[in-house]
Amino acid sequence: MFFKLDHPPVSYEDYRPLLDTELADQLAKVAGEMGQLRVLHLNSTATGGGVAEILQSMVPLGNSLGIETERIVINPDAAEFFDVTKKIHNMLQGSEGELSPEELEIYFTCIHRVADDMRDKALAADVWFVHDPQLLPLARLLPKKEGEVWIWICHIDLTTPNKSVLEALMPLTQDYDQLIFSQTAYVPQNLGDKVPVLIAPPAIDPLTVKNTPMDMTQAQKIVHIMGIDTGRPLVSQVSRFDLWKDPWGVVDAYRIARESVPGLQLALLGLSQATDDPEGAKVFQTVVDHAGDDPDIHLYFDPATMPVSVDEVVNAVQMASAVLMQKSTREGFGLTVTEGMWKGKPVIGGDAGGIRVQINDGVSGFLVSSPEECAQRLVELLKDKSLATRIGETARESVRQRFLLPRLALDYLTVAASQVNGRLPGVSGD
Ligand code: UDP
Repeated sequence: MFFKLDHPPVSYEDYRPLLDTELADQLAKVAGEMGQLRVLHLNSTATGGGVAEILQSMVPLGNSLGIETERIVINPDAAEFFDVTKKIHNMLQGSEGELSPEELEIYFTCIHRVADDMRDKALAADVWFVHDPQLLPLARLLPKKEGEVWIWICHIDLTTPNKSVLEALMPLTQDYDQLIFSQTAYVPQNLGDKVPVLIAPPAIDPLTVKNTPMDMTQAQKIVHIMGIDTGRPLVSQVSRFDLWKDPWGVVDAYRIARESVPGLQLALLGLSQATDDPEGAKVFQTVVDHAGDDPDIHLYFDPATMPVSVDEVVNAVQMASAVLMQKSTREGFGLTVTEGMWKGKPVIGGDAGGIRVQINDGVSGFLVSSPEECAQRLVELLKDKSLATRIGETARESVRQRFLLPRLALDYLTVAASQVNGRLPGVSGD
């Protein structure tokens, strides 16, 4: 019903050259105070999607800071569980409808069985970081032991949630000691003030294969094998095939832009299949239909067809693209935006959720609200290389200052340490 996931070790010292000294020292200090405590991160998929991406780096970083940190992935015994939790995810991001009594039954029964298994196997920790709604009931189902700290982290865009699902689930947040949201705007009204809230936007690991900017020759070699003509401009969106990522709008924007930039090519890369996202194949098929028979639209869905690892492919596509898009209409944060910005690329993002936090419109990227606007920015950036370079450079520095993993580790550990020490941290700013 759950399994432990190990990750290769890292060294905190390797991050230091990228960090401001104050942040680096503060993190080492907080980690020193936490030294003897055991930390557990729990989520619902081993790979695929932003949370898995963060945890595969956060866990080894915690260990390299001297804190015993482990990761547990839940593995419920009924496939319908993830159908229901994906529906919950979509409804929390604003889709219409209601959860039926049968769906609620599946959700609670499955997670109950996971909790029972955890209890039977005596899973233990001092600080529990529980990620996203799939696991939200755990704090109620596993009554906490004396001194334990339970923290729920919501990575979802809650700007305009479906009220019915919010009403059904939010009471479960009251079983936690601390809540973390990515933005102040996501904190649900009527949450009450019993449980303190911290605002902590996600971050990327700058040292991974995916995020260490790849040499351009190597990047072009890889995308060439993938069927892309490196002699003509390429624009891309790297994202799961998902309703909220608006892949259809990306195709529309490319079509308009191509009228002004002949020979333009588009890549949509959605190789990361998350076990907790059963909708990917369906969405992919509709994008295939929408793209029609244009030989310059390159769609990638099956990791088995790739010439190198998924992380290398993501890096290569991001590097080889003249402009990156993340045209989401809802986005909890959007790690792909930060990944592109870190590589010094101009990113055009949907004017939504967490993308607004990352892109300073016109300064470190562009925010758009329609395929037409997106196309206009594409053309501008493709025709004006110095604009693209200037925006890319500003974007990289902005990520260095705000969205690298050690900053997120500091946020998590500071709030955990405050809780352990019995001090309530309260709401911090964006
Ligand atoms: N990703 C990937 N391969 C792909 C598409 C996406 O590895 O083909 C990764 C992407 O690089 C990023 C994560 O999946 O690290 C997506 O995180 P994000 O926050 O952008 O969106 P989410 O999938 O969590 O909604």
